[in-house]
Amino acid sequence: MQILTFDNDLPADIPTSSLVAIDTETMGLNHVRDRLCLVQLTFDAKTVYLVKFNPDADYHAPNLSRLLEDDSITKIFHYARFDVLALSYYLEVTVNNVFCTKIASYLARTYTSRHGLKDLVKEYLGVEISKQSQTSDWGAPSLTDEQKTYAATDVIYLHALRAKLIEQLNREDRLYLAEECFDFLNTRVDLDMLGMGDIDVFQHSLGK
Ligand code: MN
Repeated sequence: MQILTFDNDLPADIPTSSLVAIDTETMGLNHVRDRLCLVQLTFDAKTVYLVKFNPDADYHAPNLSRLLEDDSITKIFHYARFDVLALSYYLEVTVNNVFCTKIASYLARTYTSRHGLKDLVKEYLGVEISKQSQTSDWGAPSLTDEQKTYAATDVIYLHALRAKLIEQLNREDRLYLAEECFDFLNTRVDLDMLGMGDIDVFQHSLGK
């Protein structure tokens, strides 16, 4: 695995492909309060690009934004709802053509309640990954090697997981359901953006 770090945008000339795995790190779970600090991307599951946004960043990242808005590229996330919200909010992009390994896992792996990235990597790939740096300070002026490795580890397995999940969803004839959920993702993100994150508009009543 090779990790390349850049400030505020990707270089213009990186080699791309039709499948990219993406993750983000933020200061926390509230998109208004907690700024976007890092975007991790890999096209080939070997070279990982880390794009770091500093506290004074204006989030003008034309190369990264062009890639995110390229509908011909499939973007693989684990829990896309969170990452797509952060990317939409800070970079003002619309991210289409998404594959979410968490949604796929919910639909494929109904025999378990464990759908964390760590659980999927363990079950499908037999690899133990550490989630220890998850809650570290991603806003720090320079990231430690440990943080960079952790951040890169979060994207490096997503291509392989997608392939395994597609296989399992196909076997159970549920791939179409996953795809329809992915198509709904931006609507779900827009609701989150409005502050309606806790509301399920399909439920019978909203309680008191
Ligand atoms: Mn992550």
